[in-house]
Amino acid sequence: MRVPFLDLKAQYAAIKSEIRRAMDEVCADQQFVLGPRVRRLEEEIARYCGAPHAVGVSSGTDALLLALMALGIGAGDEVITTPYTFIATAGSIARSGARPVFVDIDPTRFTIDPKPIADRITERTRAILPVHLFGRCAEMEPIRALAAQHQLAVIEDAAQAIGAEDEFGRRAGCIGLLGCFSFYPTKNLGGFGDGGMVITNDPSLASTLVALRNHGASTRYLHSLLGGNFRLDELQAAILSVKLTRLDQWTKQRINNAERYDALFRSRGLEHHIRLPEIPKNERHVFNQYVIRAPRRDELSHFLESRGIGHDIYYPVPLHLQACFKYLGYKEGDMPVSEQAAKEALALPIYPELTPPMAEYVVDAFQAFYDR
Ligand SMILES: *Cc1c(COP(=O)(O)O)cnc(C)c1O
Repeated sequence: MRVPFLDLKAQYAAIKSEIRRAMDEVCADQQFVLGPRVRRLEEEIARYCGAPHAVGVSSGTDALLLALMALGIGAGDEVITTPYTFIATAGSIARSGARPVFVDIDPTRFTIDPKPIADRITERTRAILPVHLFGRCAEMEPIRALAAQHQLAVIEDAAQAIGAEDEFGRRAGCIGLLGCFSFYPTKNLGGFGDGGMVITNDPSLASTLVALRNHGASTRYLHSLLGGNFRLDELQAAILSVKLTRLDQWTKQRINNAERYDALFRSRGLEHHIRLPEIPKNERHVFNQYVIRAPRRDELSHFLESRGIGHDIYYPVPLHLQACFKYLGYKEGDMPVSEQAAKEALALPIYPELTPPMAEYVVDAFQAFYDR
């Protein structure tokens, strides 16, 4: 057997005719950028996430940069975030001109640890940017309280977490001031290329975002703000609207797969060798990734490869140790929890179309590895 890490062809096969019809409509209309399908998708995503405003943009990275720009964050400012995430999170902060300030993660959730944040707040701090990593919400209540106390904005990187809910049933992206999503093909709601969305409760921020994504134009050829080309196109929007109708079903399948892995690993006593991800009961973890922690991770990775089992490592080098952030002055040992996670984390196939025999084959391989 072979178990791919992700199987987008299987997903496409199940919805092909609907997708092709939606694409054909765009081809017939020949309106490709920021048209009626983008507006419809914005309404659908706003409703899905429980936010009044949604602004379609060109990628998750651009969603983050645009959110920072809309708040006027730039040179001289600091933004607090996690070092255990995709480069886009801190990269966007740095590209805005602001300085990323890293705070280590919670070892169980893999998301920013709220407790040390207070010590990192200075008079230059403008925002806190938590990431809902792997599909589980960061611990938002203490972050919101700190932000309110210090008058900071909270920007959520919800790129991996569309539809995730915290313990109060609030959906990822609308817990803070601005929420950023990615429609990159490997996300839970993925397009046929790049795309993203920013959501917010704030109507004036929403209109700033709308202007900034199209060169800061409030009226055509009148530019009160300096923006850029952050536009979403109609083909992506048309495809994403079709896929959004399946998202809850796919999410349920992801959660089922996580529960299946959990039961299988435990039935073989493997939870003593590896740390399994928590499956929270009173939150909705949407499992963009199912990430275990394993000692001897790289050896395990080779073994899985030899058995034809797709897997990936998120993230092998935390951001505070990346060459592009050398100027920030961090060194090894500064973020011990993130550094440990970088050495131990291993993501297993969790996509909706993964079958029970495939999950069993994966767990069999773990047993063989640890019984050797
Ligand atoms: C994917 C991702 C992004 C960037 O999204 P793109 O659409 O690829 O630009 C940002 N942050 C996180 C946590 C992501 O996983």
